[in-house]
Amino acid sequence: MVNVSVPHSEVTALLEESDLDFRFHSKDDDFALKTYDTNIMGRFSCPNDECGSTGWSSKKIAITIRMYTGDKYNARVYHQRCQECKRLSQPILDDSYAERVAYRLKKWSGVEMEAPVYGGESNGPHIRSLCEGCKAGHCSEGKWYC
Ligand SMILES: [Zn+2]
Ligand SMILES: [Zn+2]
Repeated sequence: MVNVSVPHSEVTALLEESDLDFRFHSKDDDFALKTYDTNIMGRFSCPNDECGSTGWSSKKIAITIRMYTGDKYNARVYHQRCQECKRLSQPILDDSYAERVAYRLKKWSGVEMEAPVYGGESNGPHIRSLCEGCKAGHCSEGKWYC
């Protein structure tokens, strides 16, 4: 589990469209005003050189978005384990990260928007034992089966 701050500039760019300005909050143990569990898309590659896995893509990467006082936010992206060797892997995120984080922050800020259409069918069953989001109880995909 890590906080991903790299795509912050992309989130900022999307927020500017609605005249919003949020800063990235690097601590995630503080009290958050709002918390939202959702999922994003991305790709994993297995960090284990001896593993035969060529990596996998996921349309259900668990993410927890949090908003704090003083126009601050952060997002925790949950890792997944390799199906072959069970090693933990950090995802390479696509545009869905910034889109979903910005959408949530706009919504929390009272910006009127049309509900987004999240394309893409799930690529295979969600394997809860391999998902750190499920383990932490923050995976919106996993909750559907609970
Ligand atoms: Zn592996
Ligand atoms: Zn999950």
